[in-house]
Amino acid sequence: MTPIYDRVALIGLGLIASSMFWAMKRGGLAGEVVGTARSEDTRKIARDIGLCDRIVDTTAEAVEGADLVVLCVPVGVMGAVAEEIAPHLAPGATVTDVGSVKQAVIEAVAPHIPEGVHFIPSHPLAGTEHSGPRSGFAELFDNRWWLLVPQDGTDVDALNRLRTLLEAMGSNTEQMDFEHHDLVLAVTSHAPHLIAYTMVGVADDLRRVTDSEVIKYSAAGFRDFTRIAASDPVMWRDVFLSNKEATLEILGRFTEELFALQRAIRTGDGEHLHDYFTRTRAIRRGIIEAGQDTDAPNFGRVTKKE
Ligand code: NAP
Repeated sequence: MTPIYDRVALIGLGLIASSMFWAMKRGGLAGEVVGTARSEDTRKIARDIGLCDRIVDTTAEAVEGADLVVLCVPVGVMGAVAEEIAPHLAPGATVTDVGSVKQAVIEAVAPHIPEGVHFIPSHPLAGTEHSGPRSGFAELFDNRWWLLVPQDGTDVDALNRLRTLLEAMGSNTEQMDFEHHDLVLAVTSHAPHLIAYTMVGVADDLRRVTDSEVIKYSAAGFRDFTRIAASDPVMWRDVFLSNKEATLEILGRFTEELFALQRAIRTGDGEHLHDYFTRTRAIRRGIIEAGQDTDAPNFGRVTKKE
């Protein structure tokens, strides 16, 4: 396949950037991929494992001559990184980011983007609880949604070219405005993460059930919370601090529903509980029908035989 971009710069070399590199390499989608990360440690690991065609020490070197620049750093530092690279961006280049929140990133990054450079925010709805340069794999984006959040006046050719790359990396794409994006993600990702963090925190606080019991009997449901609650603390701190309004709105609704369920349990209202759980089960069926998870029992985990 003819490369879609001649030179792609990846700023930050964690889960998302490393997966992007392996996916682009799999498809021969970029002439050259240049990467950089904040720490010498990460840059060394990247060189050792062959992540990117070239690893450079500064963001300025990384973006030099790049026709696509991807910001793959935590949401809270996107603005600072944009400011740093701005004077070095090539005219006509596209800058995108993969941040999990869109309004805050747009507000932080857009003011630094020079005239003649296209800024097209985006967000891959794909991830794992692992982070760092070793955690990426080419298949991460296969059949996952990658949302594009273009702004008024976005160059159509630049948008189509970016979309072509994302789809060639295996993802399905959709366009959304930033406000709607942040609300949808508060429901589907941000609030669930906060609830998982809370549940794991509660188990840790509860002294009547020992830590070893929590771990030993975790297959009863708890371990699925622990996977989500093992996600990167910096990334998730930044997500909550920058998607405040939407997350608080969803958490407000969540608290109301939780109180309603609490009441149903106290008053013995089995009908309420049954109806509620029937409705939620249908959502799970919808996710499977949309090809976004497996129907295999226990999420397709293979049970180890003793
Ligand atoms: P990650 O694995 O934790 O990697 C983050 C990278 O950013 C590292 O290379 C790190 O450099 C660099 N970095 C951290 N702080 C920095 C700073 N102050 N200045 C410059 N570079 C800095 O992260 P990730 O999971 O790939 O996430 C990257 C972005 O993708 C985030 O904005 C996140 O919201 C978004 N996202 C994540 C997921 C997910 O599930 N993980 C899914 C969709 C979108 P060092 O290694 O040198 O510290």
